Amino acid sequence: MRYTLFGKTGYRVSSLGFGAMNLPGVPFEQASAALNYALDEGINYIDTAAAYRNSEEIIGDSISHRRSEYFLATKTNKRDYASAKEEIERSLTRLKTDRIDLLQIHYVNTVQEFKAAMSEDGAYKAALEMKEKGYIRHIGITGHRPDLLAKWIRKEQFEQVLFHLNLAQPFALDELIPEMTRLNMGKVAMKPLSGGFIQPVDKAIRYPYSQDVNVIISGMVSVEEVRENIAAMRLEVGDAERSELEALAHKLGEHNCRRCNYCSCPVGIAIPDIMISSQVRSTFGLLPKGDGFYQRNKEKILSCADHEPCGEKPICEPMCPYELPMRRVVMEASSYYATSS
Ligand code: SF4
Ligand code: SF4
Repeated sequence: MRYTLFGKTGYRVSSLGFGAMNLPGVPFEQASAALNYALDEGINYIDTAAAYRNSEEIIGDSISHRRSEYFLATKTNKRDYASAKEEIERSLTRLKTDRIDLLQIHYVNTVQEFKAAMSEDGAYKAALEMKEKGYIRHIGITGHRPDLLAKWIRKEQFEQVLFHLNLAQPFALDELIPEMTRLNMGKVAMKPLSGGFIQPVDKAIRYPYSQDVNVIISGMVSVEEVRENIAAMRLEVGDAERSELEALAHKLGEHNCRRCNYCSCPVGIAIPDIMISSQVRSTFGLLPKGDGFYQRNKEKILSCADHEPCGEKPICEPMCPYELPMRRVVMEASSYYATSS
């Protein structure tokens, strides 16, 4: 595992960060053991959010007695001043701490949302105020549109960005990461497995590890998973392996979906999940979580081909800022059922 200087913050952070989003789904003892084991093994970056059910409380109850051992990052997805302030205060209580190292304005994907958060009466003002009072050390932003994030950081109001970077979503490398490097910001990549879709796991974790990022947030819920993630980062990535992983990402990212979630489907088809898993599914097959997704959504996915209102023109496609062929990809996904049963 590597430790690097985290932008201008002065902290040295571990390359593997503990993503605590899924902890509420497992028994408390298991979650607590995973968090404590991670700290024992040198992971010093813990990532959560006010919106992740009781994840903040689990962290507070499990490791707040070891507070000096980790850099604590949480998020608010409120956009206005009053609700963001209230939520940040609640996070401090739930995390059982008197300081949050990094408060991120969470899941900002449209210009409208960004403007709301940055307005006179926006969430950013609440974060700034809490920073001035010493409750927050640094302010960051998270989102799914690397192209927009690259523009939004230019005024240097943020010290960190949390973005997707995985074998099926290599898009942050185009503009966002170089811009963050220029501005000396903390670079945090999330979802190395794209929410449980990408395999092989080892390659999936080593791909962001091969790139210019400080921390890779991996969602973990057990000691076993922490061990597996640490093992994948035991050795540094050499040039030959990096080139191989980049070529693979080029292929698996051909779908071009950024998961901006601008699209919707009247049948309820989860278009971004299908787009992003498309090449992985046909190249390697999916992890059990991905298989479960396809099994649960079988009827919906198969119904796309006959959905009459989309006959002449797919309803979803005009919503996509990247003009992607979503109907074709969803229809191709039906091949999954021919090969999986
Ligand atoms: S083309 Fe398929 S995925 Fe797109 S809106 Fe219609 S039914 Fe949904
Ligand atoms: S298909 Fe297009 S609109 Fe939908 S999430 Fe992907 S990039 Fe966004």
